[in-house]
Amino acid sequence: MFSWSVQTRIRLALMMGYICITVFFSLTTYIVYVFYKHIAPSVIEKKQYGLLIFNLIFGNWLAINIYFNYLMAWLTSPGLARDYQELASQYPMCKKCSMNKPPRTHHCSWCDRCILKFDHHCPWLNNCVGFYNHRYFFQFCCFMATGCMYAGTFGYRQYQIALLGDQIFSYSDSIFSPFDILDEMEIPGFVTYYIFLAGFTIGFLLVGLILWHGRMIGRGVTSLERVLNHYYTHHYHEQGFIFVNPYDFGFVENWKRFLGVRTLGEFIRKVLLPSTHKPEGNGITWDGYNVNTNLQLHRPGPNQMARPIAFPPGVQPNFPGGYPANRYRAAVVPPWERQSRPPNASHSYQPKPLSTETTDDRKDQ
Ligand SMILES: [Zn+2]
Ligand SMILES: [Zn+2]
Repeated sequence: MFSWSVQTRIRLALMMGYICITVFFSLTTYIVYVFYKHIAPSVIEKKQYGLLIFNLIFGNWLAINIYFNYLMAWLTSPGLARDYQELASQYPMCKKCSMNKPPRTHHCSWCDRCILKFDHHCPWLNNCVGFYNHRYFFQFCCFMATGCMYAGTFGYRQYQIALLGDQIFSYSDSIFSPFDILDEMEIPGFVTYYIFLAGFTIGFLLVGLILWHGRMIGRGVTSLERVLNHYYTHHYHEQGFIFVNPYDFGFVENWKRFLGVRTLGEFIRKVLLPSTHKPEGNGITWDGYNVNTNLQLHRPGPNQMARPIAFPPGVQPNFPGGYPANRYRAAVVPPWERQSRPPNASHSYQPKPLSTETTDDRKDQ
């Protein structure tokens, strides 16, 4: 299979990253400039002071949060395994960078380094998304989506009012009568008009991305684990086991851990306003499987066959309140699986050789 050399990948990732960063800063800053240069004076001229004050507060709050979370996601180290080696000596070694890999750590093939709680490599941030910057990445997406929608609706309308005295064009005109827009607004206005529209479209795309990532965060999986867990589920099922994600503490608890906040007050101070607080935990050792949430889900009913539980290779679940006496606690078998249980399934999981390296190899393919 064709593959780039490590150096080529690193150079390519850097180049893509700097292009994306330039595009982000120039477009976002241009929109902020248009708001102050054209929209604000037009609103003042019409003496709509209520509208002005609301938009000054809301727009600046959005802009500050967008820039802050972008810069933090870009410049914060996601958590490099090489910086935490003294805490990770008991874990297996990465075959590509020779660092010990704690659970949830994976090798980023773009950056050629092992990242704690690796989620994905993001060219827009020119950085990997991992343990220490996952929250910034997600919050950036949320604020950016809101900002794009705001620019694509309020800004889109007010820009036309500022330039033409009234909103003349609708969204469909951008497709059916672009030349009328060009005639009326001339080249700078025409370009700005389409930048507002692009913002609107990007906002929609970001909402999709937010919903997708939000679902994974609520379930306590990273983007990479989502793929790997499908594989584990299948692999363990073949041996008569039910796979359980050991990092799922229930929807609300997963969110609290991810955001690093516990109360509504903290949420307002630390999520709705810029904050540099770190996520809960150290990214190396994990609480692991939670008896109070997951086991409830997997307790067998009166007529259900008991099934053992299996964890990802290399993970030693750290049960709160001690390790349970019955390690392979009975688990629920869904009705559609009862017939398919292999007759020769053993009662303890016999892992096939499945090193952490295989998971990275799978990811690279
Ligand atoms: Zn590595
Ligand atoms: Zn990376």
